Amino acid sequence: MTKKLIKVGIVGFGYMGHFHLNKANEMEGFEVVAAFDSNPDKLMDAQKAGLKACSTMKELLAIEDIDLIIIATPNQMHAKYAIEALNAKKHVLCEKPATMNCEEAKQVVECANKNERIFTVHQNRRWDLDYMVVQKVKEEKEIGSFTTIESRTYGQRGVCFGWRADPEAGGGMLYDWGVHLIDQILQLFPTNKVVSVYGRLLSVLTPVVDDYFEVKLRLDNEVCANVSVGTFALQDLPRWFVFGDRGTLKLDDFTGNRGGAARIKGTVKGFESVIGHKNLGPSRTMAHLEPENFEKLNLPIVEDKSMEFYRNLLGAIRGEEELYVTQEDILRLMSVVDAVFLSAAQEDIIKVSI
Ligand code: NAD
Repeated sequence: MTKKLIKVGIVGFGYMGHFHLNKANEMEGFEVVAAFDSNPDKLMDAQKAGLKACSTMKELLAIEDIDLIIIATPNQMHAKYAIEALNAKKHVLCEKPATMNCEEAKQVVECANKNERIFTVHQNRRWDLDYMVVQKVKEEKEIGSFTTIESRTYGQRGVCFGWRADPEAGGGMLYDWGVHLIDQILQLFPTNKVVSVYGRLLSVLTPVVDDYFEVKLRLDNEVCANVSVGTFALQDLPRWFVFGDRGTLKLDDFTGNRGGAARIKGTVKGFESVIGHKNLGPSRTMAHLEPENFEKLNLPIVEDKSMEFYRNLLGAIRGEEELYVTQEDILRLMSVVDAVFLSAAQEDIIKVSI
């Protein structure tokens, strides 16, 4: 029996609206039929792409055979459009961040449950190659148990593009990259609680919004994750640096195959074994370990799973599988984001149980 085609309407036909059109076209089972955008030029683009161009949300939602609405507008509109779409009995895939805060996210989730429709968020960076390598190293305990995780990405251009420079639109890097990188950390520890949150938000080159931030999350297993994002750094630091209790992992970039991992052989050698390190000043603690005491590990090879999000969404809409990006994930992430903003405003560590 041929399965029902899931008809899709896109809200916000900009960069990500086009991205979703291409992905949905790639995935057998979806058919994008219409788009709504507040900018008439984007409606022309939609027409050129063979879609029905709607100049209001009402017009889009009136298309009865649309099953799924994909929201790809600036962030401040996500909650409003999600609620309108859910009340019109459509499933919703929303771009990240789900909403501007946890309170809004709760309202959307309640609306989804009331209408018995799916509400999920495009946390696509769960399938980034670098992240899947980190996951695999953790699962296979290649460097023992993780103790501290550094996760970061820095741009060089010193800009927050377009509406990202506007706080009213939900601009700033915490809402932009922050929600991806924090979601990744939460997914590494799905059953642990975040017990404290520290956030520092700076406007270095872009006034009014955060174009650099640091977030420190401490978990109830004593793991600490340090996440930072900036738009202006002209030197590179590794994308990931992970301390384990048996070794260390460094991933240089998003490819997931540049960097290295190493693990101690036997037990860590104490001072007695230190012969001295000619390039170092007077320290035994920081003296390098002789190479025979540790092994270099091959980085795990991970396969490209960039279509997995859409495959899962299709399955979930058809009632065949559970969603990957759940309501609990969405509320947990937005609670952490709230705590980061609070911490930054109060210049203090916020104790939580998230
Ligand atoms: P964009 O500026 O390229 O596109 C936004 C579109 O929304 C524009 O066409 C604009 O005209 C339209 N729009 C603005 N206000 C509107 C309104 N009130 N009603 C209807 N349409 C409106 O922005 P973008 O980079 O595509 O970002 C869109 C969303 O996608 C954001 O939420 C962003 O955080 C998210 N995003 C996600 C990823 C990812 O990897 N998941 C990557 C980039 C952006």
